[in-house]
Order: sequence, then structure tokens, then C-alpha cells
Amino acid sequence: QAKAAGRNAVRFFDPEMQEVATANAALAADLRQAWRDNHLQIEYQPQVGLDGSMTGVEALLRWQHPTRGIVGPEEFIPTAEETSLIIPIGHWVLEAACAQLAVWAQRPDRAHLSIAVNVSVRQFRHPEFIDEVVSCVRRSGIPPDRLKLELTESLLADNLEATIARMRNLKEMGVRLSVDDFGIGYSSLSYLKRLPIDELKIDRAFVKDILTDGNDAAIAATIIDLCRNLGLEVIAEGVETEEQRAFLARQGCHRYQGYLFCRPLPLEQLEEFMDAKAAATSQPSSVET
Ligand code: C2E
Ligand code: MG
Ligand code: MG
Ligand code: MG
Repeated sequence: QAKAAGRNAVRFFDPEMQEVATANAALAADLRQAWRDNHLQIEYQPQVGLDGSMTGVEALLRWQHPTRGIVGPEEFIPTAEETSLIIPIGHWVLEAACAQLAVWAQRPDRAHLSIAVNVSVRQFRHPEFIDEVVSCVRRSGIPPDRLKLELTESLLADNLEATIARMRNLKEMGVRLSVDDFGIGYSSLSYLKRLPIDELKIDRAFVKDILTDGNDAAIAATIIDLCRNLGLEVIAEGVETEEQRAFLARQGCHRYQGYLFCRPLPLEQLEEFMDAKAAATSQPSSVET
């Protein structure tokens, strides 16, 4: 133990490392406080089909910081994982999603919508995760296939057999599984066919320059082909322009998420967005008065 402490002591003589450690500790304390004070919020970003109609939303965490304004998840999810705060936070997102699906299930115009929830590796591997999903879905009484869990490729980097077994448990219950940010992480196409998944999500990184970067276009097209051949759904994230959407559509990708359609919105604004959309489509094209 003395040895270990000694090593740490040496490491912390590096002033830069010391700074990073201090900043991390501060962020962790801040995040713990934010969790206690209910400063975390969920926004929902629409996912749409070929005709622009909504198929569902993705739930995205936000931190309403008292002095910094809204802090995005990229800044605090790593800390949430390191501190294990991701376990209660992730559970809360799951509960919120199921509760919202239960509300929508009562409305004919919303009952078809799905909610995608991001699940971090740490959360997925937590011994109680499967039970939590089961009880969330049961208690809310929702059709399980309205809940979609977004997993990342990093989950597949090790413990593959255990991971597949857990994925099967989730599939047996009827929830849908999506692989988020597909193409940027550790990927081995050979076992993709063994995974009990429903969908691949093309990462924003490939969509961004899809019209100008031949490599990105080729990768996106390959993922779309792969999905067609494996019988998987495919959705592109980060679609910002009609040209990107049209290109993806020509390649055979018929579901999209991105600023072109809608930014992530707090629930109230999402409801307004959906109502406005419904009003626009039910309106006759020429109105007589
Ligand atoms: P992600 O799951 O890949 O989510 C998509 C990200 O792309 C979101 O960033 C979304 O706001 C952003 N985005 C969507 N459309 C566009 C677009 O057209 N252009 C651009 N530039 N960006 C777009 P966000 O909300 O900052 O989330 C970042 C990441 O944080 C997520 O990436 C996800 O990995 C993670 N995350 C968010 N919420 C949760 C959560 O509840 N649990 C866990 N474990 N991770 C979460
Ligand atoms: Mg996601
Ligand atoms: Mg993604
Ligand atoms: Mg992404």
C-alpha cells in the first residue's frame, strides 16, 4: 500500500496532472450536487421517416448549471461514469422515458412513437440493469417495443459472450436495441450478425461531410448496405441539410435525426412541435373561407 501511495505521490508532482485531477474532482462534486438538486433535464429529439413523419424521439440529458447555463452530456457523462453517478442518473432517464411512453400510449396520435435511451457501458454492465429495465417496462405498462436502448460499440470490445447474453435477455422482453455511433468505434463485422440488435445508427461524423468526402459517403453507403443485408433498420444522425437527407435516401437510408428536422427540445416544446406538425398535415392545401 505504501508503494501504491508512493507511486501516486510521484504522479501528482506533475503540475498538469494535478490540475486535471483537481478539475475532475470539482466537476464530480458539481455533478453530484446537480443530481441532488434536480438540475438534470431531458430533452427529446425527433426521429423521422422518409415522408418526414415522426417515428419517435431520442432522450438526451442536459445539465441546467446555475452559473454556466446548459452543459451538454459530452462534458459530464464521462465524469458520471467514473463516479458511478451514471447508475442512478441512467435509471432516472429510463424511468422518465417509460413514464412518457405510458402517457403517449393513451393518445392515438402519439401511441406509435418510440423513445430511444442512451445506455452507457457502465450502466449496461451493472448487475441490476436488466431487472431495472424489466420493472420499468412492466410498471409503466407500455408496449416494450416502444422502448429502444442505444448501446455503443465499445460495449463489444470485451466480454462479448456476456454482452450478447444480456442483449438477448433484453430482446426477449421485447425492447429494441440499437447500436449508436456505428462505424467510429471497435467494429468487427463478423460478429455483427450474432448480435440480437434491431438497428444501426450511422454516426454524425460520416453524415457531416457526406456530400464532399468520398470516404465518408462510402462508409455511410456500406453501413446502409450492411443493414439491408442483415435485415436491420438503419437511421442517420446529425442530418442538417436536405442535400444530406436526399443523398442518404438515395442510398436506401429512410430514417433520420438531425437539426434539419428538429433540435432536441424540452418535453413541453416537443409536444408543441408535434401538435404544429399534426395541424400542418391535417390542414387542407386550399382553405375556403
Ligand atoms: P448521441 O447518442 O450520438 O446523440 C446524438 C448527439 O448529436 C446529441 O448530442 C444531439 O444533440 C446531437 N445532434 C443531433 N442532431 C444533430 C445535428 O443535426 N447536428 C449536430 N451537430 N448535432 C446533432 P448531445 O445531446 O450533446 O449528446 C451527446 C452524447 O451524450 C450522446 O450522443 C450520447 O452518447 C450521450 N448522452 C446523452 N444523453 C445520455 C444519457 O441519458 N445517457 C448516456 N449514457 N449518454 C447520454
Ligand atoms: Mg444516442
Ligand atoms: Mg449517436
Ligand atoms: Mg454520435
